[in-house]
Amino acid sequence: MAATNSASPPLVFELAILFHQLLKCVRQFLESNDLDFRAVTEMRKNLARAGVKKASEEFSTSVAAPTGIIPEKDLTKPQLRYKEFVEKVAPLVLDRKLKKVQFANDPKAKLLGCTQWSPKDYIFTINVAKHDVEDWERNYDLFIHELAHFYVQRNDHLFEDFWRAVSDIGAKLAQVALERPELFPTSVRQPELLAA
Ligand SMILES: [Zn+2]
Repeated sequence: MAATNSASPPLVFELAILFHQLLKCVRQFLESNDLDFRAVTEMRKNLARAGVKKASEEFSTSVAAPTGIIPEKDLTKPQLRYKEFVEKVAPLVLDRKLKKVQFANDPKAKLLGCTQWSPKDYIFTINVAKHDVEDWERNYDLFIHELAHFYVQRNDHLFEDFWRAVSDIGAKLAQVALERPELFPTSVRQPELLAA
């Protein structure tokens, strides 16, 4: 009997079917990704037309922190109040170590704030040249945003888990506000009364 290395006809047939199915899966995967990409691109164009800024224009997408760190002794009262808030509330929202809250005055940096992290802890930097610490609505916004970066350990704003982290941290912050209202400045609740 002559030896043969070729597969028997039924096996070849089965392999051909499997290969065809594999190609079909790859094509479907590529097509779905392409559709997603086109949808995201179109969504970005629509947002730009509506005047919505890119996330990278509002917040940091780079791990490079602003320069011009303000010495602790030179911090203003509103800056110290925000620092105190972040130091007390962040550990209640995220079960990870907040290493430091610091302020920078860097007009050249586009970012409002920045989170530098290691797997264990993170540094929260606020750029006072671009962020008004007396505006508490924006303070909460920055707080949620920067903690979300640490939570997912990424700077990508389109990373799906990033928006999930933002939503989760926002929900936890609301819960902390109800359970520990003394940690929140009264100016947030009734700014018009304080301005009078
Ligand atoms: Zn960001």
